[in-house]
Amino acid sequence: MNKVLHIVGSGPAGLSAARTALDAGARICLIDDNHAPGGQIWRGGPARWTDARARDAWNTLRGHPGCTVMQDAQVIGCVDGSTLLVETGGRGVAVPFERLVLCAGSRELTLPFPGWTLPGVTGAGGLQALIKGGMPVCGRHVVIAGTGPLLLATASTALRAGAQVAAIVEHQSWSRLSAFGFGLLSRHGKKFLQAASLFAELRGIPYVTGAQLVEAQGDDVLRGVVVRAGGKDIRYACDFLAAGFGLVPNTDLARALQCEVVDGAIRVDDAQRTSRADIWAAGECTGIGGVDKAVAEGRIAALDALGLAPSGRDLPLRRASHAFAALLARTFAPAPSLRAMCGPETIVCRCEDVTRARLLPHRDWREAKLATRVGMGPCQGKTCGAACAFLFGWSHEDARTPLMPATARALSDIANEGEA
Ligand SMILES: Cc1cc2nc3c(=O)[nH]c(=O)nc-3n(C[C@H](O)[C@H](O)[C@H](O)COP(=O)(O)OP(=O)(O)OC[C@H]3O[C@@H](n4cnc5c(N)ncnc54)[C@H](O)[C@@H]3O)c2cc1C
Repeated sequence: MNKVLHIVGSGPAGLSAARTALDAGARICLIDDNHAPGGQIWRGGPARWTDARARDAWNTLRGHPGCTVMQDAQVIGCVDGSTLLVETGGRGVAVPFERLVLCAGSRELTLPFPGWTLPGVTGAGGLQALIKGGMPVCGRHVVIAGTGPLLLATASTALRAGAQVAAIVEHQSWSRLSAFGFGLLSRHGKKFLQAASLFAELRGIPYVTGAQLVEAQGDDVLRGVVVRAGGKDIRYACDFLAAGFGLVPNTDLARALQCEVVDGAIRVDDAQRTSRADIWAAGECTGIGGVDKAVAEGRIAALDALGLAPSGRDLPLRRASHAFAALLARTFAPAPSLRAMCGPETIVCRCEDVTRARLLPHRDWREAKLATRVGMGPCQGKTCGAACAFLFGWSHEDARTPLMPATARALSDIANEGEA
């Protein structure tokens, strides 16, 4: 088989797609913006992996003559619908593709509250990524707040790194969390056991439910956080506040490539085909559902892209992981009451210092952008776009190349390549 499959993203979905394609005799080009493969959950590279699926995939890829890996390579956009623009090592390269699998993962939903821009306040997954990347937290006081299972995973990472976790503050009510537990027990036994062992590891740490962030306090750095639970305000002194409200699929590149996006995720069919005949998508960018969904979808996408049928085990795995994804979405969807965290003077767009009060008079994202510069800073609306969607119901569907900040040198390299 002489087909080359291009894959964007080397998380569980991308690694699984890459391994499947190599096993089927195809060649692959795997592009990822991190310096090591693994994506979010397998962050840190092969030396740190404990999941056999990651190690097996990498063992197949490493040194394989049909495998090209571009690490530290950011896909910053596309031209003519079938060429990716990639920045790597400060240079720009145009990468044409015939068949592409998008495995771009997700990012955190960050919601604004007073003090969220203070140094020391991060996303929940953000703090986890910093710790996995080597940031020392031993002996430091950490509060983890927001909603979703990532709060527990982050608490575990912080605890193992020697941090003092002062509290885990979950917005959902205890009754909703109990229903989630029963849902896991009845249909997702393995996940139930994982959750139970996480809770056992975190015993002794206050788990405050039905609670909401009031403010992060500090001067030039974070000193503490106030949360409201049962009508009472509680203050925790801390050095780090990790606040996360769930995950948002990364769809910017898909939108730039004119793939259809529905309800914030890339629309795919049962074979992971997008609305474009030459593009497939797998993993969190098609909907939030965790590592098992990503691995199964990566395999299905690669096989279909090579004209092969899915294996017998993947379709049931995909179905089960979609049922888990639906349970997650039902339980942890951020409640509308979280909008009250963001006061009139709270900054919503931190790149351009735009407050909620300045956004309120506007009817939609486009109008607000033109009038206030919201979403026009270095993050290109990756953080405040989702926050505005939650606060005001605005959609932010625009995706223009470059999708992320790129050096002038990389852009001019690509332009020169096009003219040559
Ligand atoms: C911050 C964070 C922390 C998480 N922590 C956990 C956890 O502890 N436990 C858990 O079960 N789940 C966690 N998740 C959920 C996790 O993402 C999934 O379980 C799993 O990693 C999904 O795999 P994936 O391959 O779909 O995406 P990912 O693992 O996110 O991989 C996507 C890869 O694509 C790369 N990429 C995206 N866009 C581009 C581009 N334009 N150019 C080049 N490369 C690109 C990304 O950098 C990333 O390496 C976390 C998610 C986030 C956002």
